[in-house]
Amino acid sequence: MPESRDPVADLRRIAFLLERANEATYRVRAFRSAAATVANTPHDELVERAAAGTLAKLSGVGDVTARCVTESLAGEEPVYLRRITATEGTDLPAAAAALRAALRGDCHVHSDWSDGGSPIEEMALAAADLGHEYFVLTDHSPRLTVARGLTADRLRRQLDHVARLNEALPDGFRILTGIEVDILDDGRLDQEDELLARLDLVVGSVHSRLRDDSARMTRRMVAAIANPHLDVLGHMTGRKVAAAGAGDAAHSKVRTRPPSDFDLEKVLAACVEHGKAVEINSRPDRLDPPKRMLTVAVEAGCVFTIDTDAHAPGQLDWLDFGCERAALCGVPADRIVNTWPVERLLEWTASHA
Ligand SMILES: [Zn+2]
Ligand SMILES: [Zn+2]
Repeated sequence: MPESRDPVADLRRIAFLLERANEATYRVRAFRSAAATVANTPHDELVERAAAGTLAKLSGVGDVTARCVTESLAGEEPVYLRRITATEGTDLPAAAAALRAALRGDCHVHSDWSDGGSPIEEMALAAADLGHEYFVLTDHSPRLTVARGLTADRLRRQLDHVARLNEALPDGFRILTGIEVDILDDGRLDQEDELLARLDLVVGSVHSRLRDDSARMTRRMVAAIANPHLDVLGHMTGRKVAAAGAGDAAHSKVRTRPPSDFDLEKVLAACVEHGKAVEINSRPDRLDPPKRMLTVAVEAGCVFTIDTDAHAPGQLDWLDFGCERAALCGVPADRIVNTWPVERLLEWTASHA
């Protein structure tokens, strides 16, 4: 009799691959909740239920996930998993693959504390599996209420929680503290200074009044870049593009959005002057900045991050998309701050206060 596979690992792998393909959240959730139930059910009970055909009676397990578990227990790769792996994308071109291999972590990641779909620890375990040395946890700031932005109090609690998680995580991986702070209409940052100063890394992004005129938007962005707490300028143009395989977008109609209007040269000059990084946002529905602007930023002498802006574990693997664009636009690896050893990254962020 063939040896049983690990049904929890198989269910999680399926969820990961669906998230990476940007499938609708509700579809992925079925696999994640089944994995949680199966992980909490004794192995013998699983075997009995598989034989009796009663796995789907467990809460959180449906017909599709029950079939996966039955196949796993029988030592077979679940058909569902085999089908997804068979349709996986092609390999990265060499230059992009070299950048991807040089990346040590991800500076823009969300959890279910704001608008992400998964607990911090699940994001962390998935990142450790991908070989990351760290990610920066960057949940939203208070003003972004639609994304359950964290008040100062909730952020303080999150910092305590992360400190405890870090003690229990596998060696060689750590969660760095951070925030994706809203750049307010006047260029101020949407969180208390004392808290921003405590964080390892601060991503600042524009999420409101994206259609302001160029002069106003430029002033706003330059003021934020000059703020010593900001380290990384997130998805600088705010554009949204139609993503390939965008399950969620297809669900709620694909919504695209043109880039904001601002003086690119002034904004990039401010980044160079203050030593702040321009984010290369890898989300398939953002891919921000556009390649033309990225090329200008390379010429201007900027440093960069390549981030996923992941809201689910499988999305942590989107770094490939950012690496592809960085390679196409000739971004040198040593100007990407998340290729640096983590101590150097932290010295760099601390140098901004
Ligand atoms: Zn954002
Ligand atoms: Zn984000």
